[in-house]
Amino acid sequence: MNELRVVEPREHGVQRGDISEAALSVLDGLRDAGYRACLVGGAVRDLLLGFAPKDFDVATDAEPEAIVEVFGRKARLIGRRFQICHVRFGREVIEVSTFRADPGNSEIDDSRELDNAGRVLRDNVFGSIAEDARRRDFAINGLYLDIADECIYDYVGGLSDVEARRLRLIGEARVRYREDPVRMIRAVRIAAKLDLRLDPEAEPPADMIDLLADVPAARMFDEVLKLLMHSAGPAVYAGLRHYGLLHPLFTDTMAVLDSPVGAASEALIEKAIANTAARMAEGKPVTPAFIFAALLWPAVREGAAELERDGMPPAPALASAQSQVVSRQTQRVSIPKRFSIPMREIWQLQPRFHKRRGRNPSRLISHPRFRAAYDFLLLRAQVGEVEQELVDWWTVMQDDPSTPKPASGPGARRRKRRGGRRSKTASAGSS
Ligand code: ATP
Ligand code: MG
Repeated sequence: MNELRVVEPREHGVQRGDISEAALSVLDGLRDAGYRACLVGGAVRDLLLGFAPKDFDVATDAEPEAIVEVFGRKARLIGRRFQICHVRFGREVIEVSTFRADPGNSEIDDSRELDNAGRVLRDNVFGSIAEDARRRDFAINGLYLDIADECIYDYVGGLSDVEARRLRLIGEARVRYREDPVRMIRAVRIAAKLDLRLDPEAEPPADMIDLLADVPAARMFDEVLKLLMHSAGPAVYAGLRHYGLLHPLFTDTMAVLDSPVGAASEALIEKAIANTAARMAEGKPVTPAFIFAALLWPAVREGAAELERDGMPPAPALASAQSQVVSRQTQRVSIPKRFSIPMREIWQLQPRFHKRRGRNPSRLISHPRFRAAYDFLLLRAQVGEVEQELVDWWTVMQDDPSTPKPASGPGARRRKRRGGRRSKTASAGSS
């Protein structure tokens, strides 16, 4: 067990100014009410490592009801098994949790919410700050910045890991990964995002990977977003592949990637993740629909090809393969409708890119999902799934001022043109 190490502000270098206004209001409010209040988790870790924190979490010895008393209507209790408190200041929500001991099971395992009342009550036992530190996953995530003296309190050896830029589990790997298999994914994600060396002891054990198949699909969706919708997405993906962590989550796709046609399929996924990362780095909007479209495409495409070999026409084959893949997939990783609908549209529009005659081109270009579907076609061309010439044709077509756009009025819609089969300039210029 680690000895407590306390580090003075001038030594650790984190300042009040590094902490968001809302988090400071929560920390100061609790302290002024006589409670111990600490910044904890990812924010302390990120500040020590020189990254900008994504969110600020607070841990305190005030019990949930007491937190509500301090912040009144700004505070809202959430969670059933573990009551935590959301305190809202302006647009920012600060998660405040009471120090608690972990009786040895995972904190967000939905299946256990159904357990009898006795267990639920026992799980809500509050604990000391030292116990609170030890229930956390990685040592660098178990550091507390106490707002009263601004010292960092380290009960788990997290500071030496920060210094060594190392990601180490608190406790024994097999025990901690069995308690909550999502920690295996967090290990890869945190190491990749923060450029840390994953401690050999924390490497996901091959025989435990399949435990991920039992994690509730809704929680898995949140995790997958955090994995891939990030500028470090490509490094995270490489790490997940390296340890085989994607097999229980994207089983159908992984079966294709492991087959002889796998390389091109994988290149498409990697390019989609890299595109998203580049867009995020530039502050451009991104949608999970695109990443999911790429992640499931190999399974959809192969499924459709098989149905076509059995004699089904292409359009129904694609539709049927989509439904099968999506319904199997959502048992592992749920995909909310607001993303699954555009994802399916991206797929459904793909065959229409091959129809360059008649009214299809102008109709397709005015489809609300045209841009995403076109970007997807571009990826397919980059990995050799379709001819680059096809993409080029659509590139010219959509930029052509004579091509009807959604806003170009009823006259444009009614225009009926035939031809343009061979020459894009002739067809685009002939109206
Ligand atoms: P991120 O930068 O993605 O927010 P984070 O470490 O802050 O990373 P959160 O999900 O915000 O991740 O969790 C906040 C803190 O809660 C963590 O730093 C860690 O101390 C603790 N924690 C989160 N998930 C787990 C888990 N599965 N097991 C144990 N502790 C966890
Ligand atoms: Mg966090």
